[in-house]
Amino acid sequence: MTARIVLATHNPHKVEEFQAIVRDTRPDLEVVGYDGPEPVEDGVTFAANALIKARAAASHTGLPALADDSGICVDVLGGSPGVFSAYWAGHRKDARANLELLLDQLSDIADPHRGAQFVSTIALVIPDGDEHVVEGVWPGRLAVASAGAGGFGYDPIFIPDGQAPGTERTVGEWTAEEKNAASHRARAFAALAPLLAQL
Ligand code: IMP
Repeated sequence: MTARIVLATHNPHKVEEFQAIVRDTRPDLEVVGYDGPEPVEDGVTFAANALIKARAAASHTGLPALADDSGICVDVLGGSPGVFSAYWAGHRKDARANLELLLDQLSDIADPHRGAQFVSTIALVIPDGDEHVVEGVWPGRLAVASAGAGGFGYDPIFIPDGQAPGTERTVGEWTAEEKNAASHRARAFAALAPLLAQL
């Protein structure tokens, strides 16, 4: 019988990314979706929310479970929006309004102080009680204006570090392949791979 792992996310982009990493590290594992009750995500850290989701899926299915939580953390805002990234401009979860509010809040802040990072935290919960949390951080800074239509969420206003001066682009201007190779999720996945191998 094929061993199975349940994935507690409904975001199709994330499902694809998770399936790819599991395939690469544990081709014998079958990834199944989670359609049980949704827990209230009332944690105040990415790790707490990822654990809430993974624990709910593990206890409902009896299978090892993976869940992630992610967001953007802006230095001058003390790490906010952080866990509030999805609804920074209100509970309607409007990605454009979120991004515009953040740009507006930083409108008087000059480049050296616009540092920010994308963070992805992944929890792996085994029904017998073993729990693991890994994190991927993608450092960069906020653009002064939105650019590019690629990706989702805050991608059009995030400029990752490490680009040559004069050629810098926001993630909204990157290809999906470029983003998937460098992103906070890619970095968290890299930390997850050895744990999956041990399952
Ligand atoms: P969640 O982990 O699906 O709850 O996502 C939280 C929020 O963080 C998203 O709604 C986006 O606003 C933001 N976010 C997380 N990852 C990314 C990314 O890769 N690009 C842009 N925004 C992101």
